[in-house]
Amino acid sequence: MVSDGTLTPEQLAARAKANGVELWALTDHDEIGGQHRAAAAARALGLQFLTGVEISVTFAGQTVHIVGLGFDADDDALRNGLSQTRGGRRERALEMAAGLAKVGIPGAYEGALHYVGNPELISRTHFARYLVESGVCKETNEVFRKFLTEGKPGFVPHRWATLKDAVQWITQAGGMAVIAHPARYKFTPNEEYALFTEFHAHGGAGVEVVTGSHTAAEYLVYADMAREFGLACSRGSDFHSPDESHTDLGTLPYLPGGLTPVWELLAARIQ
Ligand code: AMP
Ligand code: MN
Repeated sequence: MVSDGTLTPEQLAARAKANGVELWALTDHDEIGGQHRAAAAARALGLQFLTGVEISVTFAGQTVHIVGLGFDADDDALRNGLSQTRGGRRERALEMAAGLAKVGIPGAYEGALHYVGNPELISRTHFARYLVESGVCKETNEVFRKFLTEGKPGFVPHRWATLKDAVQWITQAGGMAVIAHPARYKFTPNEEYALFTEFHAHGGAGVEVVTGSHTAAEYLVYADMAREFGLACSRGSDFHSPDESHTDLGTLPYLPGGLTPVWELLAARIQ
């Protein structure tokens, strides 16, 4: 990955192939700079590939991730939109470090930078790795719980892309937009309904039903939501690293029956 994962696109392609994945997408946060490498690696392995990205969006005061699949990775409007979305991560990271310094953790910005491949994409994950390596916490989940989530000293809210822009950048580049891991957001039922309604109205096509951060019961909840809103369904591991991710590539169950997989609608975009 070229955002906050620890493996390269080539290593991920090899891991996907070894784990029996048939169709793979690389979905870096707000960045598509790894797509050509990923496509070439997949081709060399005989693995089917769709372009991918995970765009950070602010909706009703929370950060929502919108996955894009099957777009043209050279599309200028998409590239410019992502570049705007990445802007501001450095300032946010400096504010996060100031918050951590106040509770006795100095130097977190510099520490996090050591883990960053692409400085434009410094993220909470990089801070989490630094706080684990420096012995403040045992694992990254603990860092998020104690320091990096709403109300905690290292949390800094940020305005990401709008839902409408993210969906339109993806769609106008020939791809399909998918709501990532919907069970992870802390929306009221009304806010969640608004998210799905607006997403659909802007041309959003699908929802992640099976993902590493959903329980089996949540698969069924979002399978129903997909039917209610006429959305296709997707499945993704959200794999970041062998040490941090509970769900490896290619290990999730299939989609529940009777749903339309988003990749069926994207058959012409598979490389
Ligand atoms: P950012 O874009 O800087 O807000 O960071 C988002 C990253 O933090 C994503 O890669 C998420 O997977 C990761 N993340 C969010 N919440 C948690 C959590 N509770 N435990 C581990 N990683 C998390
Ligand atoms: Mn995500």
